[in-house]
Amino acid sequence: SSIYEFSTPCRKAMSDCRAVLAQSLGVKANEIYFTAGGTEADNIAILGAARAQQRMGKKIVTTAIEHDAVLKAAETLGHWGAQVTYVEPDSSGHITPEALAEVLTERVLLVSIMAANNETGTVQPVKELAAVAHANGSLFFTDAVQAAPYRKIDVSDWGADMLSFSAHKFYGPKGCGVLYVRSGVKIGKLVSGGEQERGLRGGTTNVPSIVGLAAAYEKTVGTLEKNNAKISGFKELFLKKVFSEIDGVKLNGTAELPGIVNLCFEGIDNAAFLYNMDLHGAAVSAGSACAAASIKPSHVLLAMGLSEREARSSVRFSFGRDNTAEEILRGARLTKEIVDRLRGII
Ligand code: PLP
Repeated sequence: SSIYEFSTPCRKAMSDCRAVLAQSLGVKANEIYFTAGGTEADNIAILGAARAQQRMGKKIVTTAIEHDAVLKAAETLGHWGAQVTYVEPDSSGHITPEALAEVLTERVLLVSIMAANNETGTVQPVKELAAVAHANGSLFFTDAVQAAPYRKIDVSDWGADMLSFSAHKFYGPKGCGVLYVRSGVKIGKLVSGGEQERGLRGGTTNVPSIVGLAAAYEKTVGTLEKNNAKISGFKELFLKKVFSEIDGVKLNGTAELPGIVNLCFEGIDNAAFLYNMDLHGAAVSAGSACAAASIKPSHVLLAMGLSEREARSSVRFSFGRDNTAEEILRGARLTKEIVDRLRGII
């Protein structure tokens, strides 16, 4: 952060990264803030906006299916005395503009709705939701952490006043993220310290990770269609195998994102399923943190109307650009074997 000659390459690298991201997102370079990941970006957006806009900082609206980075920040706002309203999804996991309009009976400071869900792959109608928020005079923030690897983000088309994403979701380094804040939106400091990131987020800049983030994002956007087609192909292949060979399977949500699918296997325990998959070298998850041998039922699936039992029988599978068709077929075979074993069929 110093002005001597030795720091010039770092400063240039940072300004190049900001320029690359700004151009891709269709925003100005000084509207981009680098953070230590999606969680920090989400917290700065929600708590920072509330802190800066004291006069109407008493109410925010978010949804029941957000990532904990948003839900916990909203909870903190609640401790600060704000009123938080949670919009419920429909059974497919979508937050409809009508459902949002219904809760916006009075002016609220901020509406925070994720662009795509990390557990089900359901994509939200962000543009329409932003329009409803703006009609109410509210700021609109979207957590685009899970959308960024798959969808071209055009901030002004989406109508976001603030937006976050995180590098590791698109093969960039872990612990590095972006918060876009439209110029004119007042946002208070959460991470106080030096004047890095124009005073919004103090702390020595993580230059190597930021360079990695910008390079990974540029590559992701440049190969979006090709990789989406490849990853969707893996998902379709997996679903075809699973649905043709296993009975009592249900798709949770709509899985519009190419890389994520959430399935409920009647009568199995997802912790046992995960454990068995892991033993065979296949990494899958239940969508929410795993504590020892039991998994908390997913708040996303419960909000979509699944019973606790169905949520505990649900598994999140994800696919990536470096997978192979052989791996997908092996994953489907393992899934069948383990489901059969857990159901006592073999
Ligand atoms: N928001 C969503 C939708 C996520 O999937 C994640 C997961 O990584 C986060 C926020 C948190 O991002 P990070 O892990 O970079 O803090």
